[in-house]
Amino acid sequence: MKKVIILTLALFFMRTNKTLSQSDFLEYIHSHYSKYKSVQIEQRRFEPKHYFEIMDSLSNESGGLIRKSQVGTSFKGIPISLYEVGNGKNKILLWSQMHGDESTASQAILDIFNFFISHKDCSHSACKSIFSESTLLFIPILNPDGTKKFERRNFQEIDINRDAIRLQTPEGKILKTIQEEYKPDFGFNLHDQLTTYSVGKTGKPASISLLAPAYNFNKDINDIRKRAIQICVVIKNSISKFYPGFVARYDDEFEPRAFGDNIQSWGTSTILIESGGYFNDPEKQEVRKMNFIALMNSFLSIAENSYSKFKEEEYFNIPENDRSLFHLLVKNCTVSKDGFNYTVDLGINYSERFDSLRNKYVEKYTVADLGDLSTYSSYDTIDVDGLSLNIGKVHPEIITNFSKLKKMDCNKLLADGITTVIFQNDKFDEKELKSTLNQMISTIKEPMRESQHLMGHSANFYFTDKNEIVKKVISNGRLVFER
Ligand SMILES: [Zn+2]
Repeated sequence: MKKVIILTLALFFMRTNKTLSQSDFLEYIHSHYSKYKSVQIEQRRFEPKHYFEIMDSLSNESGGLIRKSQVGTSFKGIPISLYEVGNGKNKILLWSQMHGDESTASQAILDIFNFFISHKDCSHSACKSIFSESTLLFIPILNPDGTKKFERRNFQEIDINRDAIRLQTPEGKILKTIQEEYKPDFGFNLHDQLTTYSVGKTGKPASISLLAPAYNFNKDINDIRKRAIQICVVIKNSISKFYPGFVARYDDEFEPRAFGDNIQSWGTSTILIESGGYFNDPEKQEVRKMNFIALMNSFLSIAENSYSKFKEEEYFNIPENDRSLFHLLVKNCTVSKDGFNYTVDLGINYSERFDSLRNKYVEKYTVADLGDLSTYSSYDTIDVDGLSLNIGKVHPEIITNFSKLKKMDCNKLLADGITTVIFQNDKFDEKELKSTLNQMISTIKEPMRESQHLMGHSANFYFTDKNEIVKKVISNGRLVFER
């Protein structure tokens, strides 16, 4: 009897210890993240050359921990490399930026490498488990040609993620070859999704969406897919601990041409991670941190085999991705058309456009939907109840002199409903302008040829009361004037 009690107690302690250590690990990587973040890249657009230089210096610094080998080249001849860490029996393959404009996870991989290097002597018990139990295989930036142009497709304009069967892209062939050669147990397929995806109807952005892809049209669950499902639960739990309610589940419709679905069918438990949006995070640096937490905890969970306790229901209980989110909602606008007044909400989203005046990419806000949008939510909301909507005016004079542009009385212009100034001169000092006009009014190089249709219109509006006094002004999706 005594023996049994002691044994039970010992088992209890072992268990408690294990759970505690994973939870402690999560706390640790969350609170110490800034120590490991690679600050050399903090924006979504970067040169692949710059990225690989950082990767190479990390590999050199790692004292043999990170082993690099070139596994091929992109269509335009940019080297594609495999970075191996650890020597354990679990083989884990990760590939990022198969779509060139989806760079969040590539950045998180730099942070993971920093973490590994800091603990290459196994000073952190988690690293000891990860390095001894698993072999991690990273292919960061599978599509360097697309990354260079910050475009989804490769140089042949093929979506690599629809090339798993036909294999007409060199990048797709590399992924297939590595999968065949190493036969990984786990695969992490790392992407970005639109920032307008929401977690079901909760109104929260889907900062991370997960999928254990189906391997057939029946969406059956075999042991391979089941393990992927369990890892999705690990990820959901680890992110929800710090960002509750920001994880969604991606639609599991089988796509016979996609890599995730096929790699699942080739025997690798594959997890798709889609990085979406988060509040006040245009460069997705907070979502990058979520990737770091998700992947690090997955590695530990695989090393300790602790994922296997999770039930499939926990995965299917994650709310599905939904599209009921706008970047900005302008509620209760009164619109007049042919003498008839009615109320609409405006759903406004931004996309990135190249601004020739500023010579850089900027956010351009346009109307994506209008009508009764009361079932939608948004990152920002402006209520203009009782006010009439008017399309913002363009300043009648084309300004060609920078000092004149700087001296313009912004508030006066806005009070007159002017939201745009055309500036035609190549000498445009954004930094100098930032403090004044630029904050308030859209400056453009060319006159806009916009119709009076609200759908698709730039988000430059002013709102008037019954006496036609301008009460609020929105310029490029921002509330810039109010009285
Ligand atoms: Zn993608």
